[in-house]
Amino acid sequence: MIEELIRPEIRSFTPYNANQQPYKIKLDANESPFNLPLTVREKLSEFIKNDPQLNLYPDTDSIQLRKTISEHWDVDSEGIIVGTGSDQLIQVMTNVFIGVGDKILYPVPSFSMYRDSCLIAGGTPVKYLLNPEDGYEYSKETILEAYEKEQPKIIYICNPNNPTGNIMSVSDVIDVVKYCRKSIVVVDEAYGEFCDNTVIPYVKEYENLLVLRTFSKAYGLAGIRCGYSISCKKLASAVNLARPPYNISSLSQYIAQLILSDKEEINKNIEYLIEQREWMIGKLSNIKGVEVYKSYANFILVKVDNCNDVYNRLCEKGIFVRNFGLAPLLTGCLRISIGTNEQNSIFLDELSTICYNK
Ligand SMILES: *Cc1c(COP(=O)(O)O)cnc(C)c1O
Repeated sequence: MIEELIRPEIRSFTPYNANQQPYKIKLDANESPFNLPLTVREKLSEFIKNDPQLNLYPDTDSIQLRKTISEHWDVDSEGIIVGTGSDQLIQVMTNVFIGVGDKILYPVPSFSMYRDSCLIAGGTPVKYLLNPEDGYEYSKETILEAYEKEQPKIIYICNPNNPTGNIMSVSDVIDVVKYCRKSIVVVDEAYGEFCDNTVIPYVKEYENLLVLRTFSKAYGLAGIRCGYSISCKKLASAVNLARPPYNISSLSQYIAQLILSDKEEINKNIEYLIEQREWMIGKLSNIKGVEVYKSYANFILVKVDNCNDVYNRLCEKGIFVRNFGLAPLLTGCLRISIGTNEQNSIFLDELSTICYNK
């Protein structure tokens, strides 16, 4: 009976499946290998010891945190909305703009949330394809053509793209924003800290541009579930219409603020991960049967022979990576998050052993 009550467009969904088994090395979710900096931990324990006021609801508008973010980026805090992860902001945005008959335009292969949130809202997701033969490069022309044909309310650009690691140049993104005046262009910069390619300064100029950022990746705070959007004030007010009240816990608000005041440590971690990424790309390219894609993020996409077999054998060793082998346009692909040098080295050793002993 229950099954028949479920809306037809939801019936085919499978719950998000995160690998929960015991592991030795976890390189499957693009998390940071660096835990909360010691200075931040100390301030946090002071906060808890003193007067954390956890009996009260949090500030529903995250005012202090938004102020700190606005100073970090030199933008108006009225254009910032904070979400329980940027995931929540994708959902909220979709619920504000998309109903039955409305379309979104989204890249494939990319983050699955764009399509799923649209289906849940009853809208129609329309894909634009990234070509593996061209290293999954974005094509501005493809997006503009699809815009003319489909007239979507929202266009997504994941920049750098997850899981392929490539970027669209700032000038190309801005060309899309300028041309597609009747759509909201969402630029998901979840991995923006790992390259120097942000369109945040342009939100002042274009009212149809919204940028998504998160504390989950470069800031090493996936556990606090906190992300934010930056746009003009008008667009932010619209997104705010469907945001659930009290969506960010007091502790998450406080920790996110603290991390933004300790940029030195974070920047050091980011530099380290970028260095490791480049080192990994070199090493991976030398392994027989492995094809490596360039990356501007904290992960690397590789194409390997006998992908499922390689994946399973890594799992047996307690090394988790993300298997995209069966996903559209990602045949044979694994995504490896960048860890510490020690983790990366163990992974490379195991992968070489597997590839040379087939
Ligand atoms: C990880 C990720 C996010 C969001 O993460 P949150 O933890 O919900 O902030 C958004 N977009 C992309 C492409 C991601 O990979």
